[in-house]
Amino acid sequence: MASSFEVAVVGAGSSGLSAALTLGRSLRKTVVLDNGTYNNHAAATSNGFLTRDNVPPPALREAGLKDLERYETVEVRKASLEAVQPKDDDSGFVLQLADGSSLEAAKIIFATGARDVLPEIDGLEALWGKRAFHCVYCDGYEVRNEPIGFVMGKGMPPPVAAMFIAQTANWSDKLTVFADGLEVDDGTQALFKASGYEFYPSPISSMSEDGDGVAVKTETGDEIKLKGVFVASSSEPACKSILEDLGCEVTADPMSGSFVKVDDQQKTSVPGVFACGDVQTPFHTVGIAAAAGFKAAAFVNFELCVGKMFKIKAEAGLA
Ligand SMILES: Cc1cc2nc3c(=O)[nH]c(=O)nc-3n(C[C@H](O)[C@H](O)[C@H](O)COP(=O)(O)OP(=O)(O)OC[C@H]3O[C@@H](n4cnc5c(N)ncnc54)[C@H](O)[C@@H]3O)c2cc1C
Repeated sequence: MASSFEVAVVGAGSSGLSAALTLGRSLRKTVVLDNGTYNNHAAATSNGFLTRDNVPPPALREAGLKDLERYETVEVRKASLEAVQPKDDDSGFVLQLADGSSLEAAKIIFATGARDVLPEIDGLEALWGKRAFHCVYCDGYEVRNEPIGFVMGKGMPPPVAAMFIAQTANWSDKLTVFADGLEVDDGTQALFKASGYEFYPSPISSMSEDGDGVAVKTETGDEIKLKGVFVASSSEPACKSILEDLGCEVTADPMSGSFVKVDDQQKTSVPGVFACGDVQTPFHTVGIAAAAGFKAAAFVNFELCVGKMFKIKAEAGLA
């Protein structure tokens, strides 16, 4: 018979580990599934999370797993989720795993993270997390006051991009803006000039490592050497098809990608299914993911407690 849990947390990144910690502290029989595909694997350090600033991402995960060790109701399994079916009696879900086994859980928390969708620039993927970054709060400090770049994204209107570029300039006034072929109106170009940015309208032909920096080549033959480059990228949920097959609503935003829709209690559109972290927000940072994990777990626990209360009420024949 398939093993049975009150809660299955899918994903042992910052959001899933945080959810599991709160569920352990709530005495919930919990299984945490993780298949070891880490979106931030290329980053040398993870920055900006209280007490865990400037640590390698594996150290952050190991610390999170260690925190779980003292909670005997929490089990962590290396396993890959392949599909989820609601049980016929509405008492929960059957989770099918890649090794052919299955397990049951009354509630599920998707903490499966996101897959970054990068502009098609030769060499960019290899530099992602090393010289090319998604977030100034994660990596801006490390390249402060150095020559840096900003690649405008195709889904972002130039006046909106201008605001993110102004934010990036907080870390360095030696800023080069790449339109990467995006049409930029005269007013925005004039603003870039008045702000002191270098501006290259041409598509980028390649990016490559250059010492401890990055060389950006444009299709018009320019080569610009920078310490790092911030890229307006988008993302989509990991496990998107599993979530969609289950009936969870996924919303799309032309600027930042697609996300599982959740309410302010981290509930998806499917009763009993919650989501937290990068899978449901464009704000990809450890702190936000961990906070959402805590919240998802607290509302899962609340729902289980209230469910029990209504059962007692019904069994006692109370109105
Ligand atoms: C290159 C890079 C650098 C970054 N640097 C920083 C930084 O310096 N500071 C910062 O705050 N944030 C940083 N971030 C963002 C941060 O890493 C994320 O916001 C955070 O990890 C999100 O946590 P999460 O739990 O939502 O997802 P993740 O950490 O991505 O965890 C998702 C987990 O789900 C598991 N999983 C997925 N699918 C399945 C499945 N089918 N079955 C089982 N398990 C599954 C994966 O194995 C993974 O462990 C960076 C991101 C990237 C890409």
